[in-house]
Amino acid sequence: MDLMIIGNWKMYKTGSEASQFIHALIPLIKDTSARAFLAVPFTALYEAVQAAMGSKIIIGAQNMHDADEGAYTGEVSAPMLKSAGVQFVILGHSERRELFGESDAFINRKVKSALKNGLKPILCIGETSAQRENNQTRTILAEQLKNSLAGLLPEELKEVVIAYEPIWAIGTGKSATPDMAQETHAMIRAHLPKIVPILYGGSVKPENSRALLSQPDIGGALVGGASLNVQSFAKIITGC
Ligand code: PEP
Repeated sequence: MDLMIIGNWKMYKTGSEASQFIHALIPLIKDTSARAFLAVPFTALYEAVQAAMGSKIIIGAQNMHDADEGAYTGEVSAPMLKSAGVQFVILGHSERRELFGESDAFINRKVKSALKNGLKPILCIGETSAQRENNQTRTILAEQLKNSLAGLLPEELKEVVIAYEPIWAIGTGKSATPDMAQETHAMIRAHLPKIVPILYGGSVKPENSRALLSQPDIGGALVGGASLNVQSFAKIITGC
């Protein structure tokens, strides 16, 4: 399976900035086999989908609500994303869990809604530094997987992508070492069918991406900060 490289722009870039970025990225990655994905802010979706049309770049969102519609001020649903041309959605990012109080149960409902509506869910899991120091990594990850994927049919599970993001490595510049990431990915792999890609996220940059992505159980990367610059994002994609 070709590696998946997903950029997570978080709350950065307007529609016109997204469009410019994507037009600049297309020629830089045209000869690579890696698959390129961009999770953009809701307000940039329209321009991003237009700019990526006919290219190998796949556009997604960074969050959604689990209901199809309803009185949920400020929220966006899977059918709305689907109709905007979105193909995937990041769910359960640690910033959503920590800053917005999202629970495994809520994330589980979102995963089911994404699948029902034909969106590929990118489910984020990861431990804090305190949990790692207390040797709880294995238990925490197993619990997040079990709760967030509860009730999925085997054919639904095959559509899911897991992003392992140690919380202490996100936005800190402190990436997991390739050995440490591989060891944890192997732990996660034991809970999942072989077909489910497991991406690594946490301070991935052009300088460390090759070593991380050459590990046997790492199926790609979820890239935050380094996906905001077209040259560094293209280097990660082409360096695969
Ligand atoms: C992320 O936002 O998912 C992430 C991994 O961020 P960064 O690459 O900046 O650590």
